[in-house]
Amino acid sequence: MSELAQIGVTGLAVMGRNLARNFARNGYRVALHNRTYARTESLIAEHGSEGDFVASESLEDFVASLERPRRIVIMVQAGPGTDAVIDQLVPLLEPDDIVIDAGNSHFPDTIRREKALAEHDLHFVGMGVSGGEEGALNGPSIMPGGSPKSYESLGPMLEKISAHVDGVPCCTYVGSDGAGHFVKMVHNGIEYADMQLIAEAYDLLRIGLGASAGELAEIFKEWNSGDLESFLIEITAEVLGHVDAETGKPFVDIILDRAEQKGTGRWTVQNALDLGVPITGIAEATFERSLSASTPQREAARQKLEGKAATWEVTDRDEFINDVRQALYASKVVAYSQGFDQIAAASKEYGWDIDRGAMARIWRGGCIIRARFLNRITEAYERDPELPLLLADDYFADAVNSGVESWRRIVAGAATNGVSVPAFSSSLSYYDGIRAERLPAALVQAQRDFFGAHTYRRVDKEGTFHTEWSRDR
Ligand code: NAP
Repeated sequence: MSELAQIGVTGLAVMGRNLARNFARNGYRVALHNRTYARTESLIAEHGSEGDFVASESLEDFVASLERPRRIVIMVQAGPGTDAVIDQLVPLLEPDDIVIDAGNSHFPDTIRREKALAEHDLHFVGMGVSGGEEGALNGPSIMPGGSPKSYESLGPMLEKISAHVDGVPCCTYVGSDGAGHFVKMVHNGIEYADMQLIAEAYDLLRIGLGASAGELAEIFKEWNSGDLESFLIEITAEVLGHVDAETGKPFVDIILDRAEQKGTGRWTVQNALDLGVPITGIAEATFERSLSASTPQREAARQKLEGKAATWEVTDRDEFINDVRQALYASKVVAYSQGFDQIAAASKEYGWDIDRGAMARIWRGGCIIRARFLNRITEAYERDPELPLLLADDYFADAVNSGVESWRRIVAGAATNGVSVPAFSSSLSYYDGIRAERLPAALVQAQRDFFGAHTYRRVDKEGTFHTEWSRDR
């Protein structure tokens, strides 16, 4: 029995191979499988000495090489590839075995797969893994969903291979069926917003200060020692300081300004529309990638829409830098607040009971949005687990309120000077909207009743009303 592997990984491209190595480096005996055997062979050839691997060419041998209940991580292309592997695996498995999908699957697929495997008495774990290939090898942030029973068997292994911050693993049980993949999806949506906000800050500083990429790198480096300290700010400083070896130009200047996307941002926005949660920062960030890739439209607009050239005569350099920093921080808080709002709504809708503070805790290390201020989010939910809005927590409300004048100066200045800051400005609008005493929604509701008899409620009495507009006019 002792020769059987404790965990298996099938799908040994960049992510799977690194995850397998991570398990092995942590002392687990790891079974390996890949559709194309050459990948398995190359892993053994290059890293076989790192730990205890059991390589199999066939899926049957792979399954037979695992101790029971089996724990099998699938790390293949999301979508049909994952379904194909599950279909091949299921007939080979026995009750209580655990199938773990560690790819970037869409959570409705995970819900469907969990149901299907439960009919075979198998556990299916939809597991979000963040941190890219480096995280997979050295400790990712792990967001596993599925049955609590499967976590009893799997959790200790995942917690061991995950990143750790202050000795605490960046892995915890998230909730049933699709909860893990859902939280990973929102994590990626927040990542879109975070990246877009940093890009807008860069653009403002570039235009406002007329500074070189190297000078801007220094500003981001400095920001990385304060409230904004995060992996994304850190790599921004590195990117801006990087010079293209071929041309000697700043590297950022030789990259085509066209951002691509793989789909998790889009999924996040689609789900927010379904749930009715305003995640405007994430949505703007996602649309901005589409705008950047709208090549013929941009070409047409450049020729006809004159407007004001994007120039900004900044008089006080230090004040401007401080204003951009404050606007960035406040907009970032809005994006996270909106993302956590979406998690709360989904948790209720799908019956997941997700602990939001714990999600912020497991994002502190290993993942792309790891940041100092995630500690503050955990603390906010520890103070009040039912917090209706992160932005309204005392700490974050103070932080945003104290930066609001800077934020307004930046958004107003950007509008006046023709600089596009969609995420900064929509976040500020959200701030003003969510705290407003009274919204113009009253007029929208009256219009709806006028043309569609959709009814309305009154501020002065209970009940639902309809006005016969043509008769009462
Ligand atoms: P990938 O390029 O997405 O997929 C390649 C792997 O999938 C190969 O092992 C391939 O096998 C296998 N595969 C594809 N279709 C298959 C099928 N029908 N049957 C069996 N195997 C099949 O690999 P990756 O970049 O390592 O990513 C793996 C998963 O992790 C994806 O879901 C991805 O979205 C997710 N993820 C990736 C990152 C990242 O930074 N790359 C980060 C987080 C999550 P062959 O070798 O035989 O072709």
